[in-house]
Amino acid sequence: MQSPPPTSGKVLLDGLDLTGIHGRALRELRGRFQMIFQDPLSSLNPVKTVGASVELPLLAARVEKRDAVRMLAQEAFKAVGLDPEQHYNRKPSELSGGQCQRVCIARALISSPELLVCDEPVSSLDVSVQAQIINLLRDLKASHGLSMLFISHDLAVVKNICDRVAVMYLGRICEIATCEALYGMPSHPYTAALLAAVPRPDPLYPLPDIGLLPGELPSPLDPPSGCRFRTRCSRAQDRCASEQPELREMVTGHLVACHYPLWGGV
Ligand code: SF4
Repeated sequence: MQSPPPTSGKVLLDGLDLTGIHGRALRELRGRFQMIFQDPLSSLNPVKTVGASVELPLLAARVEKRDAVRMLAQEAFKAVGLDPEQHYNRKPSELSGGQCQRVCIARALISSPELLVCDEPVSSLDVSVQAQIINLLRDLKASHGLSMLFISHDLAVVKNICDRVAVMYLGRICEIATCEALYGMPSHPYTAALLAAVPRPDPLYPLPDIGLLPGELPSPLDPPSGCRFRTRCSRAQDRCASEQPELREMVTGHLVACHYPLWGGV
């Protein structure tokens, strides 16, 4: 099945625009990037064993013989902390959510990808299991030399695993920085509001004076003119309604799309 074409933009992998590649050429490239989805149970075939699901990417790519694929799949099971003897022939419904997510990670790893796209990979799991999966992803990132694109609404999880963070509002990136810079000194008003809204488990911690964001999230189908955040931003001025702010670098590696940032303005 052909995926719908993008309405605009490009998807670049090492300078290669993936939106212009189809069929066999795309199939051959797919091993280089793999994905982990939000709900592990629904991203596994319920009638196949989890071992068969992990084998599938290599069998579909026809790059290895069946015996070799079985061996690689069992190694992938071990890499994610599952015992092949115990788990390989189980169905997804016989495993816990955390174990299913480990299977999905094994399925992603078996083709030795360079890039792993993790779309809210822990948001459907219990908090204690979340920590195990985050630790596993962090270890695999180091041991397999993986690049990860980690998509999440959970700022604590992002801080725990990411090196660089891009904050998005209504479909546009408003700030990019290293984790340390972004959490230590946010420059975009939306980033500051997001961080101020993180609950602190400390009754003596003073409430931030930035308060809740006013208004509702506008429809992405009909976003505000100029800066998309302007209807909720306490710093908005006339220019914000007429001119869309572009990302600009304020200090090395720290980019902000705002006419009147909290710091670093001209
Ligand atoms: S461009 Fe204007 S409205 Fe948008 S975030 Fe900056 S100050 Fe606020």
